[in-house]
Amino acid sequence: MIIIKGKSASSGVAVAPIAAKPDASDEDRVTLLTSLNPEAELRRFHAAQEKVIAQLGELAEKARQEIGEEEAGIFETHQMMLQDPDLVDMIEGLMTDNHLTAEGAVERAGEQFAAMLESMDDEYMKARAADVHDIMGQVLRTLMKRDFDWAAKIDHPVIICADDLTPSETVQLNKDFIMGFVTSGGSANSHTAILARTMGIPAIVHTEKVIGEDWNGKLAALDGATGTVYLDPEPETLASMKKKLEAEEKGKEDMDALKGLPTQTKTGRSIALYANIGQEGDLPGVLENDAEGIGLFRSEFLYLRKNDYPTEEDLFEAYKEGAQAMGQRKLIIRTLDIGADKRVGYFNLPEEENPALGFRAIRICLARPEIFYTQLRAILRASHYGNVAVMFPMITSVEEVRAAKELLHLAEVKLHEEGIPFDPNLEVGIMIETPASAVISDELAQEVDFFSIGTNDLVQYTLAVDRQNAQLEELGKASHPAVLRLIHKTIRAGHDAGIWVGICGEAAADPELIPIFIEMGVDELSMSAARILPTRKLIRSLS
Ligand code: PEP
Ligand code: MG
Repeated sequence: MIIIKGKSASSGVAVAPIAAKPDASDEDRVTLLTSLNPEAELRRFHAAQEKVIAQLGELAEKARQEIGEEEAGIFETHQMMLQDPDLVDMIEGLMTDNHLTAEGAVERAGEQFAAMLESMDDEYMKARAADVHDIMGQVLRTLMKRDFDWAAKIDHPVIICADDLTPSETVQLNKDFIMGFVTSGGSANSHTAILARTMGIPAIVHTEKVIGEDWNGKLAALDGATGTVYLDPEPETLASMKKKLEAEEKGKEDMDALKGLPTQTKTGRSIALYANIGQEGDLPGVLENDAEGIGLFRSEFLYLRKNDYPTEEDLFEAYKEGAQAMGQRKLIIRTLDIGADKRVGYFNLPEEENPALGFRAIRICLARPEIFYTQLRAILRASHYGNVAVMFPMITSVEEVRAAKELLHLAEVKLHEEGIPFDPNLEVGIMIETPASAVISDELAQEVDFFSIGTNDLVQYTLAVDRQNAQLEELGKASHPAVLRLIHKTIRAGHDAGIWVGICGEAAADPELIPIFIEMGVDELSMSAARILPTRKLIRSLS
């Protein structure tokens, strides 16, 4: 037996064979921009290039038969462009000389090549820039598809081991087969760890060692609470894990007694206890744990699990399912929070030195209103089927809120004209997750119906502690007085303006902070579904 220690990211016990993520150098890593294995990256690029050339050939043939010679010629030109020696040299050079991954090289070379064409005087050459974007987008999507294949191939219960998992990989995994996660990278506040808690499965991050492919299929036991991985566990370890599992089951039964009871302190203060979800698949857990609403639907995960932009209909169906499942209970849909660690290949987001401080969330939505508008229409349409609210993430100014509301209003006017029903009284809120928004919360409160405090980012931005960096975890605590003061200020500003204030970051489920938040006057707490009943128990014991 080998024992490996890591940090606890989600408690619980699991025993299952290991499924190790294929080596990062051989597999797609959308967010990984550099690679130590250029040969593997070159192989991956050539395979994707060949595949796209073949697809373009098929398209040309189809176009020739169904439309005409001229249209077929477009695809044939694209085939030639993808073999252009200058472009291919540039891509290969970025992998061999600059150590970029295939994705990084294709993206950067595409941008540079298109910019070069755009700067030419010849109108015909200028127009070819759009073709380069198109072709590079196809190669990127082909490269990234392998990522999904890896995750989608798992068809039996396993413990996933990896150096790190991106949120898009995590969201692809079939929940029925994933018993637990172990990553050598990551932090307890990374989105992957948050997803594990949302799924209610044990997770350990930042282990001393990477558990690689040589362990594939071998048995492992996880103790999420202590952050311990037992590889090839001995019979005594298995027996003690079994006991812990039984204790967990018993604990669940005790929790069942709390279902249906009000979440109220001994002095009669009621707190709305809501759940955080990432996708429709999380709804059964919400209902099973008797959540009083959904305080945070991280809507970006619907985009992360796709290869291309979801349509208004795709989004509407997912939101409607949530709204109908919740009935009278509130469903707060947070609009797209893409960027930072949540990368989506087809968005073609720029490479940034500091993505957490960069083009993210509402900034992308306001800069690319066509994407935002589609989502807002879908949310509005779903609002007809339940008790839906919308909230905007990463707000730093009053102007951003007004711009977002303006687009929402436009969507309402259009839907009205089209005779499509929606809730005209849809509540509109914002997340308070930047120090700027907490400081001007009095002004922001005039614009919206509620605030939801995102402590994960508020901690990161207030304390200058990267939430992805496990080494800094000790510094990044929501209990820091600077963070608590910002939370208190926000709650007071909200109440002064007559609006309700909740907390939906991970701190909302922290038993040591909950009494402080209640003392400060918080109205709602939103957390992973598995934390709902233990939190109700705690709140009912407070006087
Ligand atoms: C937060 O920042 O606290 C939050 C809830 O949003 P996310 O974790 O998705 O960034
Ligand atoms: Mg956030």
